Amino acid sequence: MDLPKIVARKDAIVRRFRSGHEHKVDSREHLHLYRGHARFLGPHQVAVGEHILESQRIFINTGTRPEIPRIQGLENGQIALSLEASDRSQTLAGSHLLVATGRRPNTDDMGLDKAGLETDKRGFVKVNSRLETNVPGIWALGNVKGGPAFTHISYDDYQIVYGNLVEGKSLTIENRILGAAILATEGGELIQALSSFILTGAPYTILKGAIYIHPTLAEGFFSQMDE
Ligand SMILES: Cc1cc2nc3c(=O)[nH]c(=O)nc-3n(C[C@H](O)[C@H](O)[C@H](O)COP(=O)(O)OP(=O)(O)OC[C@H]3O[C@@H](n4cnc5c(N)ncnc54)[C@H](O)[C@@H]3O)c2cc1C
Repeated sequence: MDLPKIVARKDAIVRRFRSGHEHKVDSREHLHLYRGHARFLGPHQVAVGEHILESQRIFINTGTRPEIPRIQGLENGQIALSLEASDRSQTLAGSHLLVATGRRPNTDDMGLDKAGLETDKRGFVKVNSRLETNVPGIWALGNVKGGPAFTHISYDDYQIVYGNLVEGKSLTIENRILGAAILATEGGELIQALSSFILTGAPYTILKGAIYIHPTLAEGFFSQMDE
């Protein structure tokens, strides 16, 4: 496995996706992008490098990063792992060590205390179902607030906040009804039909009358509805 090559490919894909959004930001006269590590100075004040920005509305969307556990010797490069159970101890040696111990929120160096923001015991920003924090005028979206850690959830968080603040809607994360799960080839494509359908609030039996293009996976899937 050539990890540097994999990471370089990932970086190139991320850059390509991101540049499209950056062009959109750059083309907006009244939208300014400040690059850097943001820290709260107060409930409505944030510092990014030498810039101090103030706003009545602030949206925290800083995500998570890998959790590296504090295991003695993890940093010293040698790969040998000691395991201890009540009745025995064992040492394992290997060429590589995969540390897969979850992710932690990017909140520990953001001055949340200066804004009076509450987090849970793991550091995730606490929000209500409208994604409002305990401080009026501050919202938290995406992975940084905990819960399901998916891109589509982060995007839906944005839709909730935008809908409520700009479009006068009254959306909550409870509107996100998870009523189906599919584990199958192209399951991501199939579930899309169901997740859109759930928004209508109609009974699933209506789908029986639909015409499913042949030959498709959707056709096969919906033909199983009576089972
Ligand atoms: C290997 C891997 C594979 C995944 N595959 C999938 C998948 O197939 N499908 C799926 O739905 N999800 C997948 N996910 C999860 C998905 O990537 C996340 O759910 C999503 O990126 C979260 O978006 P976000 O906007 O909350 O945060 P992020 O995308 O993490 O963005 C947060 C941004 O904030 C920046 N930031 C952090 N702190 C500060 C600060 N103080 N000041 C300024 N900026 C800051 C970070 O640098 C980052 O750019 C995967 C994740 C990983 C790690």
